[in-house]
Amino acid sequence: RGAFSYSTSAAIEEPLTPSVKVDYTQLLINGKFVDSASGKTFPTLDPRTGNVIAHVAEGDSEDVDRAVAAARKAFDEGPWPKMTAYERSRILLRFADLLEKHNDEVATLETWDNGKPYEQAAKIEIPMVVRFFRYYAGWADKIHGLTVPADGEHHVQILHEPFGVAGQIIPWNFPLLMFAWKVAPALACGNTIVLKTAEQTPLSALYVAKLFLEAGLPPGVLNIISGFGPTAGAALSSHMDVDKLAFTGSTETGKIVLQLAAKSNLKPVTLELGGKSPFIVCEDADVEKAAELAHFALFFNQGQCCCAGSRTFVHERIYDQFLEKAKALAVNRVVGDPFKAGIQQGPQPYLAPPLLASCADTSLLNQIDTEQFEKILRYIRLGVDSGATLETGGERFGSTGYYVQPTVFSNVQDDMLIAKEEIFGPVQSILKFKDLGDVVRRANTTRYGLAAGVFTQNIDTANTLTRALRAGTVWVNCFDVFDAAIPFGGYKMSGQGREKGIYGLNSYLQVKAVVTPLKNPSWI
Ligand code: NAD
Repeated sequence: RGAFSYSTSAAIEEPLTPSVKVDYTQLLINGKFVDSASGKTFPTLDPRTGNVIAHVAEGDSEDVDRAVAAARKAFDEGPWPKMTAYERSRILLRFADLLEKHNDEVATLETWDNGKPYEQAAKIEIPMVVRFFRYYAGWADKIHGLTVPADGEHHVQILHEPFGVAGQIIPWNFPLLMFAWKVAPALACGNTIVLKTAEQTPLSALYVAKLFLEAGLPPGVLNIISGFGPTAGAALSSHMDVDKLAFTGSTETGKIVLQLAAKSNLKPVTLELGGKSPFIVCEDADVEKAAELAHFALFFNQGQCCCAGSRTFVHERIYDQFLEKAKALAVNRVVGDPFKAGIQQGPQPYLAPPLLASCADTSLLNQIDTEQFEKILRYIRLGVDSGATLETGGERFGSTGYYVQPTVFSNVQDDMLIAKEEIFGPVQSILKFKDLGDVVRRANTTRYGLAAGVFTQNIDTANTLTRALRAGTVWVNCFDVFDAAIPFGGYKMSGQGREKGIYGLNSYLQVKAVVTPLKNPSWI
């Protein structure tokens, strides 16, 4: 193994002190920050140290009831769906302006709670969230229905109407970006919302809730519940007065949420779930560039992307050369305190086991996902045990916080668990392939179908692969391009429905046909 370019462990032992005060730790219900009905709180942890950042109100089913009642009233009695679309758009734009103004505070909370590099949060993610709200603010007054000729004796209008109360559940890997993907289109269409944040990362959404109030969002239109999945999340999923549900998280939890929705009021559900995306490096590729992009496709955001290129397929002719470069990139990845300039990889978020005890029904908890850091180390051991070659990394980094060494496995076989299951960490698995037929078959042999990457200079190869791969997104000679206008979602067990772009609007609109007789048919 090579020497890691990690910042020294001393730097991690003495983490930088964030300059933002954590002012918002209560639930947002009906336009007010309130304690949970039970009075319970849970600590949210700094993944650099495991220290408590703040105690946050722990919402449960009673709070979900209160929040849904507020959202119901705001929808049924107005003013949100009764406002003109132009006024709704203005509020979303005002919010985007405020968020832009408070970019650094929000990015600080995001890094502190999640562990992602501050530069990534401040320069990429929060500006992306701002852009996202502006994009959907632009749509708000352009949503319209259709008229259809029908039988010539009736005038038929097809109206596109908001569902009503949207329940939304988000994960911790991109806390505010996932918030934006859900909240912006739902509000633009005139829905009201109850959103549950992930228990690992409740802070940024509560901070921006204050900005929404400042922007003039009426009470009850957006309600935010922090709390655990099996309690607050389950209560939201099975609520009889929630008209539509949107969930982002693991495939296992997605199944639970879908069942809860079906067993209650059959609310329609959109699901954005896990992935095991192939990144295919063809034999004509510029090896240096391909290795860099494959590295980015896997290691970005500590490897915690649903669409991470977590199966790197490399053509046998360039395999050895590629491997050397991939290994060097991992060895030189800069790991350390995410608040420091130049850091590429921070710690993985962590929910300490004692916290699980505060969740009412621990039997429902998805232990694997709550112990993210240990799950990654477990998969690394599994990779070694199953015969893959550990090229670099493979261990915890430092003794404080939840850092994992950037890890590369070669000689990975399709049937190994590290090639089949979502690791959601900085672990690259490199597989060798012979020809296009071979790689297409193997890339598609997965229960997932979220994304794929193709690296080639040959347009015919690109066309063959983009059409043959069963995935919701195929990036060619690029990866993780997330413009607000590009739809995103999964084939197979990676999800149902699409977010972003015009497709994201459709998830929050239902269709009503209005039929009126024509007294004076057009042929008279
Ligand atoms: P998770 O499924 O453990 O949790 C996601 C959310 O679901 C959290 O808010 C959690 O509290 C809630 N939840 C947990 N149990 C629940 C239950 N019984 N009922 C209702 N809600 C419940 O996922 P995670 O570990 O937070 O996130 C990582 C996963 O999310 C990965 O699988 C990743 O691929 C996926 N993800 C997908 C996308 C996408 O767009 N497809 C984006 C980001 C993350």
